[in-house]
Amino acid sequence: MAHLKYYEDEEKRWPELNRIRCSESEANEAIRAWSSTHTPGHAPPVVVYTSGNRISHAYARRIVLNRDCLDWLLVAHEFAHVWQDRDSRQPKRVWHDSEHAERVDILCRSIIREGWDRQGLAETLARRENARRDRAAAKPPPPSPRQLKIMRRREQVARLGRKVKALTTRLKTAQRSLRALERLEGEAK
Ligand SMILES: [Zn+2]
Repeated sequence: MAHLKYYEDEEKRWPELNRIRCSESEANEAIRAWSSTHTPGHAPPVVVYTSGNRISHAYARRIVLNRDCLDWLLVAHEFAHVWQDRDSRQPKRVWHDSEHAERVDILCRSIIREGWDRQGLAETLARRENARRDRAAAKPPPPSPRQLKIMRRREQVARLGRKVKALTTRLKTAQRSLRALERLEGEAK
């Protein structure tokens, strides 16, 4: 369960990268680059692709990636395990700790900064940015102080109108009743 929560948090932190597909060659390229940047002195890990219900995982010298759900967040997540396995600042660590999360974030930032995905990432990011801008543009501007006053006045006028209508009805009923009583009084004389 702790793992599930960890994955959820990760997806919340990186909605831009979650489920953006990346090709195997793009993943290989990123892993090679990260390996020399973040773990100099180590040869790049061996990358193995699997499929079906086999789970992606990684150790210091080996990354296994499920090609059926290969996206950028997965590649960053698994390389962070390689990185951590090679040089951990924390002597005793659990599999998914804050150090791992920190490293996932560093890798995700580099994916976005360097636009790793030549085919789709830049396009997807641009599309999402445009959609975000469209949503922001579609929102009407907030009302001005005068427009707010008008809205409040309009409500007041409607409220008073309803009261006047109710009172008018009561007035007419009372008038009818009065006339009837006066007629009866006249006839009795
Ligand atoms: Zn993991």
